[in-house]
Amino acid sequence: MLAQRTNLFGSSRTAAARAAAKAAADAGKEIIDLTAGEIWSDLAPTIRDGAIDAINKGINRYTDTIGMMELREALARKISLDTGQIWKADEVAVTSGAKQALFNAAMVLLNPGDEVIIPAPYWTTFPAQVLIGGGSPVFVDTRKNGYVPRLADIKAATTDRTRAIVINTPNNPTGAVYDVETLVGIAELAINCNFWIIFDECYGDFVHGHRTHHPIVSVIPEVRARTIIVNAFSKSLALTGWRIGYLAGPKEVINAVKALQSHTTSNPNVIAQHAVLAHLQRGDGGYESKLRSQLTSARQIGLNVLSSLTRVPVPKAHGGFYFYLDLSDLLRPALVGGAPTTADEVVNSLLSKAGVAAVSGTAFGDPVGLRLSYGAPAEKLEPGLRRLVELLNSWE
Ligand code: PLP
Repeated sequence: MLAQRTNLFGSSRTAAARAAAKAAADAGKEIIDLTAGEIWSDLAPTIRDGAIDAINKGINRYTDTIGMMELREALARKISLDTGQIWKADEVAVTSGAKQALFNAAMVLLNPGDEVIIPAPYWTTFPAQVLIGGGSPVFVDTRKNGYVPRLADIKAATTDRTRAIVINTPNNPTGAVYDVETLVGIAELAINCNFWIIFDECYGDFVHGHRTHHPIVSVIPEVRARTIIVNAFSKSLALTGWRIGYLAGPKEVINAVKALQSHTTSNPNVIAQHAVLAHLQRGDGGYESKLRSQLTSARQIGLNVLSSLTRVPVPKAHGGFYFYLDLSDLLRPALVGGAPTTADEVVNSLLSKAGVAAVSGTAFGDPVGLRLSYGAPAEKLEPGLRRLVELLNSWE
């Protein structure tokens, strides 16, 4: 009945984890939900006012397919500041969230049979979109190297069919922040082996401790001609529901994206575009600082609680807003009994026994990982993590 294409993907497993938490809550259980890839926060006043102004002006029409020129100009200024280079509006396309930016990139860059290198654990949508685009994901395991890919492993995964690599730093789910040396190595390899870099920096505003986020185009400027920057306001302004993202890259890519988007969604929501434009014009950075300090304190509270884990290493959580636990030492062969044997079982036990919802690493290609979001409401995070520690420590 359905197209063969539908065999290439299932529903996002992170969405499924959220749904399981909601189903348990709807059934009357008291659930602390640490699955969400979003931050609990008030709306930025500039966003609210920008949207209300646009509505009061009666704005209701299509905009340019890839976003209002004024917004693209404002984004080009933002990207110029982020990268220390000059970017122009014709190198930017506004999309309905970063997800559409990534999808557009896959659609305009991939030919059937192309290989795309994806460091694993990975955000669950990357390989799905590559498959939909007719390509094949090639995974590079980062688990033995602090979740940062080794250059030698990327080289080993490179073939004459390699068309692109997806770099997501700071990383969802692992929280890894790629160092300059790794980025230099990847950039040089992309130049030498002639492949694209899809650079997802949706969590670029959230780095902790002494870490710094480095846009790859700033590290090796020559790589700009083969890099697509993907970003959104979903995380940086806690604006997941408003669906404004963007991609930036060479003009011919942007033109192809414009043609593609003209046949799919057309422009992103006009009111949301005006709201983001108002923020870019009038925001003083205060909202972003508030969000960052909220996450810094949530991270500290969380790390304090997680430091009591006895058989699971305390996560580094250098970037983003996730704690990513390595459960390898906890999971036991089936015969020993008692402790669960897979991360999926851990997630099920957490939900049924502790009332805590988390995402299993299987969603990210890692059957021994567990992701917990500390974007959750502050009053829920600490008790949720305490319950988790108690349960995980009980499996001796
Ligand atoms: N890229 C990464 C790494 C993400 O984690 C997410 C959302 O979780 C996205 C892209 C998609 O963001 P958006 O909601 O803007 O589509």
